Amino acid sequence: MSAARRPLKSLGQNFLVDGNIIDKIIDSAHLVPEDAVLEIGPGRGALTELLVRQAGRLVLVEYDHALAAALKRRYQDDPRITVIDGDILAVDLEAILGDSESRWKVVANLPYNISTAVLFRLLDVRNRLSRMILMLQKEVGDRLVAPPDCPDYGVTTALLGLWFDMRREFLVSPGCFHPSPKVYSAVLSFVPLTVPRAAVGDEAVYRQVVKSAFAMRRKTLINCLKASELAPTEELRRILAECGIDGQRRGETLSLDEFAALSRSLSHM
Ligand code: SAM
Repeated sequence: MSAARRPLKSLGQNFLVDGNIIDKIIDSAHLVPEDAVLEIGPGRGALTELLVRQAGRLVLVEYDHALAAALKRRYQDDPRITVIDGDILAVDLEAILGDSESRWKVVANLPYNISTAVLFRLLDVRNRLSRMILMLQKEVGDRLVAPPDCPDYGVTTALLGLWFDMRREFLVSPGCFHPSPKVYSAVLSFVPLTVPRAAVGDEAVYRQVVKSAFAMRRKTLINCLKASELAPTEELRRILAECGIDGQRRGETLSLDEFAALSRSLSHM
């Protein structure tokens, strides 16, 4: 594919140029010929070339019009491949993933500036997915797999962790890309769970509890929850006591099970 135009920083265009890393990413996807694969941001096609050989069906969503056009030309004779010239945050993902009976795999070297937004988008369509292999900025990956009470533990850990088994597969150094980013990257695998890791009652309440617990990291849990207006203060105290959680703790010390217990009680009010 043409490499004439300079990579666009605004679109997070750090193209993979290390064949060994490309192979490792594809291996981690555990592809079989029946697989339907969504690739986000295929760019110049470093991963796509191998996906085409191993997957049964492939949908590519690329925001850069010139690169999308080049991919369309390249794969115009292959009916298994659909190229969508669009923004992954704006396309109708449900419709795309509805177009196959089997569940989908997602493979992507994500543009770092939108990676968290993409993760939340994928969380919403988790029941259409069987496995995801995503390259993220190392720090974002560290947060996803962090244990409670560690500085990296945060909203994404608790929200994505409820529905996915997440594992860091390997680290990738800046020199594996062109142009080289300033930071290290990490490739993570995500396997969706069929039931959530813990019963949370109303999932919207769970999201609210988690977001408020981390909204003010220096404040105590009770103060964070009070600010969230999830329930009157006395009710919050009662629920915390009922769950055996000390309101003077900081939100970041709560395990996923403790967030779930709080959410269950608040959902049943
Ligand atoms: N997959 C290629 C590789 O590994 O060499 C390119 C990866 S590069 C880090 C990110 C790609 O995502 C670029 O091709 C960029 O144009 C594309 N992109 C950026 N924002 C996007 C968006 N909102 N939706 C879809 N693709 C996007």
